[in-house]
Amino acid sequence: MTTTRQIVARNIAHRGDAQDYTPNKTTKITDIYGMHVFNDSVMKAHLPKNIYKNLKETIERNQALDPSIADIVAAAMKDWAIELGATHYTHWFQPLTGATAEKHDSFLTPQNDGSAIMRFSGTELTQGEPDASSFPSGGIRATFEARGYTAWDPSSSAFVRLNDQGGTLFVPTAFCSYTGEALDKKTPVLRSQEALSNAGVRLLRALGNTEVSLINSTVGLEQEYFLIDAEFFNARPDLVATGRTLYGAAPYKGQSLDDHYFGSIKARVLSFMQDTEQALHKLGVPVKTRHNEVAPGQYEVAPIFERSNVAIDHNMLVMEVMKSIAEKHKFRMLLHEKPFAGLNGSGKHCNWSMADNLGNNLLEPGHTPHENMQFLVILTAILRGIDQYASLLRLTVAHAGNDHRLGANEAPPAIISAFLGDELGSIVEDLAQGSATSSSSKSKIDLGSLVLPDLPKDTTDRNRTSPFAFTGNKFEFRALGASQHVGGPVFFLNTIVADSFDYMAEEINAKMKKGVSIAVAADEVVKGTLKKHIRVVFNGDGYSEAWHKEAAKRGLPNLPGTPEATQEMLSPEAGRLFEKYKVLSRGELEARYNIKLENYIKTLEIEFNAAQDIARTLILPAALEYQSQLAGSVAAAKACGVGGDRQAKLLTDLSNNIEKLLAALEQFEAGLEQIPQGEDFEHADYCREKLIPLMSELREVADSLETQVDDRLWPLPKYREMLFLS
Ligand code: ADP
Ligand code: MG
Repeated sequence: MTTTRQIVARNIAHRGDAQDYTPNKTTKITDIYGMHVFNDSVMKAHLPKNIYKNLKETIERNQALDPSIADIVAAAMKDWAIELGATHYTHWFQPLTGATAEKHDSFLTPQNDGSAIMRFSGTELTQGEPDASSFPSGGIRATFEARGYTAWDPSSSAFVRLNDQGGTLFVPTAFCSYTGEALDKKTPVLRSQEALSNAGVRLLRALGNTEVSLINSTVGLEQEYFLIDAEFFNARPDLVATGRTLYGAAPYKGQSLDDHYFGSIKARVLSFMQDTEQALHKLGVPVKTRHNEVAPGQYEVAPIFERSNVAIDHNMLVMEVMKSIAEKHKFRMLLHEKPFAGLNGSGKHCNWSMADNLGNNLLEPGHTPHENMQFLVILTAILRGIDQYASLLRLTVAHAGNDHRLGANEAPPAIISAFLGDELGSIVEDLAQGSATSSSSKSKIDLGSLVLPDLPKDTTDRNRTSPFAFTGNKFEFRALGASQHVGGPVFFLNTIVADSFDYMAEEINAKMKKGVSIAVAADEVVKGTLKKHIRVVFNGDGYSEAWHKEAAKRGLPNLPGTPEATQEMLSPEAGRLFEKYKVLSRGELEARYNIKLENYIKTLEIEFNAAQDIARTLILPAALEYQSQLAGSVAAAKACGVGGDRQAKLLTDLSNNIEKLLAALEQFEAGLEQIPQGEDFEHADYCREKLIPLMSELREVADSLETQVDDRLWPLPKYREMLFLS
């Protein structure tokens, strides 16, 4: 008998046949990098000098485009795009679904004489009006007011995506309702950049820095993912519907040998990686690093950091382009946070810092006392923000997929804390104690004169257990899930830090009004602020039980699940913060709350439906079939006067387990019938507290059946196959 799984395994063994892994072409990255992007050098070449200057200034200063130049820019963009093979353009935006959206329009403009020309106006470039009625709005926009509009974000370059029949010009845009409410994930990021810049410049002014006039947050996103063969994927209805396996016994070999991490990359996988890198490089996405991750079948890609709104757009491209190229290579790319139980899931580390318009990284510890003062003030501001708004930061990484990771000893816990490392940690500790008298202090700490030691930018010990770790000249926010849109974490972080910058600036200015020097004022404010917020600093093992206790003692919030964390969106604190910085109005926040909760509930309900259906229609029949074979065999043996108790017991055990499966299924189905109506907290909480445990019980029995039933009858590809055959 040949099972479907055996056929798939055989097909996979021949995957290499179709591919030629001998080096036959080399593409110089420098020849292709950015070739499909309307970037600075292209603009310079295609635009009149004064227009180019104007546009460049618009981009650098985060301003709105001067309408008088829009027509000229659009025409140049169109000519350039057509040259590359484009026939259409699209306003590319990021609705609250968390994915991207595009509607293509051709440049075609028919003429009276029956011929046609290609046209693209300034208005078409800068503004679009998609029908917004089918995108989630969280109740902001009634369907009669269905119009939304898209507006070009000139700071994120337009680009052309090609396929075999021609190309499309993609214009990155923000998406708002007609009355100006944000309906997307980009708008609040742009608003938060402005808030951060204003507050940051204010703070630097207070510190006597008169040169900086603009600040941008910078982001570098390390993206983890799994690859499995497309045929296995297609044979797993749970993967198809939910992106993760709802069943599956542990493989013989998991990740216990640690032999996959940084291991040599298989030819077929490397070929996929190279293909994706070339495609991304053409789109100007600076992907740089590739390696095997901890779990079998798991990998990572990381780009060089960029201004945050651009880095976010590029992360969306990374996910999309890689998914589609995976299909070409007969792989499926899994971005779910937990595709396989018992193995590491996938996260997305968000490296975050700030750069001023002179090119300085604001989190780079300095070399002069003045630079160090600025660094310590900024560091203190961030720690204050993280502590003050820990629950909000937690909320930004809360979603159904990530609930499997956070706190499960493979990703940071749901408790937000900051890691500073030994040296910086002890300096901050001393400052918090208000003086230089503590035993661990290395020098007399006074911000006016302190010279920081060269802090080690250690690449080995990064304390992977901390959700928010200082790594030499940036923070690494490690709690993000692999599939998630990074807009939320970034705009929350930007806004939280803006608020802290303002706080620090006000405190310092107030002290200076009383006649003290900048250095003394900064020193006092840093010490006072650290004293209050040092509790958020934790350098130990974030996975440990001891930390959970200690964190509770320190009064740090611990919000283990998405429903509770999502509630934070409605807190008065969140409302005040985002309203103050004009990042989100209370209405916009509430809309996002509704969407987040609804998304959580729907995601889980799809899982519940799939789990129930697979148990009833795939697993149960396989077990019954085996039972019938076993019963036949036992009866036949008995009739021949052979066979003993042990064989009879096989049947009894199997039958008992089938009963258990049916009992678990019944309970689960009864639970499903009592789901509360309405997409509110109660509903979400019921899913998490009541149904997820029932689904787990069902899985447990099903997985034990997998280890009992004849392998030839088991309908689902097994972990040992999906993760190791490629
Ligand atoms: P890891 O050891 O965690 O793999 P890496 O040193 O490889 O970290 O860098 C991770 C990411 O941090 C990269 O995407 C890198 O571009 C990014 N990064 C470096 N400097 C900054 C910065 N100033 N702002 C934002 N991201 C940065
Ligand atoms: Mg990292």
